[in-house]
Amino acid sequence: MSLRSFPEDLTANVRWLRIAGAAAVLLVIAGCSPPSAAPIASASTHRPRDMASYANTDAFVTRHLSLDLTADFDKRTLAGTAELRFDRRDPGAQEIVLDTRELQIQKAEASSDGGTWTSTTYRLDPATAAFGSALRVVVPQGADRLRITYASSPSARGLQWLLPEQTSGKKHPFLFSQAQAIHARSFIPLQDTPGVRMTYDATIRVPKDLVAVMAAEAKPSEKGSGIFSFHMPQPIPSYLIALAIGDLAFKPMSERTGVWAEPTTVAAAAKEFEDTEQMIKTTEALYGPYRWGRYDLLVLPPSFPFGGMENPRVTFATPTVIVGDKSLVALVAHELAHSWSGNLVTNATWGDFWLNEGFTTYLERRIVEQVYGRRLADMERIIGLRDLAQARADLSVPRDRSLLPDLAGRDPDDAYSVVPYEQGALFLSFLESKFGRGAFDAFLRRWFDEHAFESVTTAQFLEFLSTHLLSTKPGAVTDAQIQEWLNSEGIPPFAVMPKSDALEKVEQARDAWLKGGSVDTLAATASAWSTQEWVHFIDSLPRKLDAKQLEALDRRLELTASPNAEIAHVWFRLAIANGYKTAFPAMERYMISIGRRKLIVPLYRDLTATPEGKSLAKQIYTKARPGYHPMAQGTVDGLLK
Ligand SMILES: [Zn+2]
Repeated sequence: MSLRSFPEDLTANVRWLRIAGAAAVLLVIAGCSPPSAAPIASASTHRPRDMASYANTDAFVTRHLSLDLTADFDKRTLAGTAELRFDRRDPGAQEIVLDTRELQIQKAEASSDGGTWTSTTYRLDPATAAFGSALRVVVPQGADRLRITYASSPSARGLQWLLPEQTSGKKHPFLFSQAQAIHARSFIPLQDTPGVRMTYDATIRVPKDLVAVMAAEAKPSEKGSGIFSFHMPQPIPSYLIALAIGDLAFKPMSERTGVWAEPTTVAAAAKEFEDTEQMIKTTEALYGPYRWGRYDLLVLPPSFPFGGMENPRVTFATPTVIVGDKSLVALVAHELAHSWSGNLVTNATWGDFWLNEGFTTYLERRIVEQVYGRRLADMERIIGLRDLAQARADLSVPRDRSLLPDLAGRDPDDAYSVVPYEQGALFLSFLESKFGRGAFDAFLRRWFDEHAFESVTTAQFLEFLSTHLLSTKPGAVTDAQIQEWLNSEGIPPFAVMPKSDALEKVEQARDAWLKGGSVDTLAATASAWSTQEWVHFIDSLPRKLDAKQLEALDRRLELTASPNAEIAHVWFRLAIANGYKTAFPAMERYMISIGRRKLIVPLYRDLTATPEGKSLAKQIYTKARPGYHPMAQGTVDGLLK
């Protein structure tokens, strides 16, 4: 199957959702086989093609993966073997197609029993920028497994190799992977689509002074042995395969939770995240049992491009949320929530991403509300709205502003924004308001229970919604409203908007100061503020301030020197808008030391608004780029070209 046929498949998928909207009929499937309108029951068996993968999943489906890889920090490669065991769906198929990107393939072998292996022929198609190269391997009749011998490229997009000076300990190198969305293929040849789930085991060979951690069960292995073994008993999609190697220490927080981090960070991290067990219990009470065994957190060096990544059993997290007062632990609630929405019930294609992130954002706020109170949860909801408005303004492809982007021919990362997160969460909050919290919680729990360890589409969700929620209160929500939630490039006028008394008080303090109030009065009020209140205060100031006001604010509140990465971020944006050069040296250090895209990309974007700013951005980027993850490099390269 060539890539050329993929766009049509997605177009068909998006088209039927739109048609359904126009006709105000939710439950019609069209576009794929059968060609005419089919009963909704067929939605469960309907599998849209994942356009971001070359894999011929209609012929073969991977069930288990075995890795044996050696990490070479000098060459910056992972090298060894990947063994795939698969089910054959098409008895006549003779070739399996795998996803790869920049892999050096050395050998392909096939087997029918795992004991005897024979060489088989393969070829790599020319690479495309969006998806990499299809690896086509001949599968002899009767064979049900393949073994590929290969090495990753030093520039593999899913791996970041850090020098000792880029870590907090400064003594040892560090490696971590980030496979979402389609980067597993840059370090493993496999069917790189969230529509395929597999179990796996792995042997990872590392320098003797380092520790390997995978998002899987660790088999007994000792620091100093250089060999670590893992087993993942639950079937997962490829984007949840994750590996970190470094000078890592572990500190338990409860029977089933703990923190992995560099020795210099591990105590502060365990303190910041000590409520994790309580969050798990809260989520279990709402949405059913936690089904992954342990839940640990692994704190990465600051160049990690995301806030967190919900790798099963071990969330990978940025150190920028360790601020000492737990005000940013909503991140843990978010990544934990993915243990239900995303990891347990997974978007079948990246076009259905809102099923992962919209649900998770809604769950995250419910967990925060339960554990830390309504006040913090409401502040998070308001800040989410602001991020949504900002994201929509920044997106250049109009359909990316809706829950159903058109990803034809595109790397899913190119459409990445908070829209599926925040618009999706607003959609679910709307449903909650119409059916009541009790009924909606029961509905969500049933959704997770009945689709556990499955990959699902938006069509499947709509069917389930209609059967198990909408039908319980006919007329409460119209089909036209559902379609507007999915297709609108803005917030539907009938949305239920959050409200935060705490942030309204911040606005009152802001207004009093702007009208000439004393900065000391402001500072007295602000002394009790959390990160969210600070961020809201700075972010809601007029973009142009009087130079004297700005200086007074900075002098009294020490904003340029803030050690809190979120507060510093919004302050630097205000500084750029005002050409407030006092803040620029600190901003430069910030942009060099942090690689989290959410925190650095807006600064680069703001700087490019003026020629002077753009030249400063380029100067800073020259120094910062070597420390950034390939994904962050890709984003900033695009902004500054
Ligand atoms: Zn998420």
